[in-house]
Amino acid sequence: MRKKITENLKRIKDNIAEACVRKMRDPSEVRLIAVTKTVEVDTIRLLLEMGQIDIGESRVQQLMQRTAMIQESLSRRQELTGAEAPEPIHRPKWHMIGHLQRNKVKQLLPVVEYIHSVDSLRLAEEINTCAAKLGLVEKVKIFLEVNASQEKQKYGLAVGAITALAEQVKTLPNLEMAGLMTMAPLTEDQEICRFCFVRLREIFEEIRGEKIVGPQFKHLSMGMTQDYVTAVEEGATMVRIGTALFE
Ligand SMILES: *Cc1c(COP(=O)(O)O)cnc(C)c1O
Repeated sequence: MRKKITENLKRIKDNIAEACVRKMRDPSEVRLIAVTKTVEVDTIRLLLEMGQIDIGESRVQQLMQRTAMIQESLSRRQELTGAEAPEPIHRPKWHMIGHLQRNKVKQLLPVVEYIHSVDSLRLAEEINTCAAKLGLVEKVKIFLEVNASQEKQKYGLAVGAITALAEQVKTLPNLEMAGLMTMAPLTEDQEICRFCFVRLREIFEEIRGEKIVGPQFKHLSMGMTQDYVTAVEEGATMVRIGTALFE
């Protein structure tokens, strides 16, 4: 498993770097999020040993269980020294990438680094309120999720609703808008994916141009196994990859 993941990680990073070179981008602008929803927690430990610290999960319950287990490993490994000590692991940064229900927000906030899937004002307000109740020191970093492909029955905001939502979220003091997120349709056809990513970038630039947001609004979370190279070519700063890492 370790060998396979090491090779896959290297291949993915090489592909990202090459896409950056083609577009005259700096590869350090692109952050790889390892999506671990389909693997065991041991595999997350492996990733952390390798220094892959950005970890994405799509379900709150699973994310909570795993943060607890990893926290325990971190504490245990700190206590052990000498010959029997296992390799040290890095502290993870957890990304919530799946659909989020309002009644799960409160438990999630203390552990999560970014929420990629904010798609309604009601959800944004709930995050804002919970952050205040919990007395969080830092603002909660969120992405607005956009249904850039405009498929029916998919999560994410309609393209036409983004600007208005951004203006409303701006008034919530405990939130920091980090950028926009989207998922392309499930297809190998890169031109369909590219169309979505270009569209997301255009909306992103429009929002920035209208000065609705501050300088921390700088991320495009787009691209997964099927289309991350295309996403990087079109400006992704975070790619969320599962299958290509573990298969
Ligand atoms: C599962 C998932 C991914 C990763 O998908 P792969 O095709 O396995 O790379 C990315 N983003 C979201 C929102 C997901 O749910």
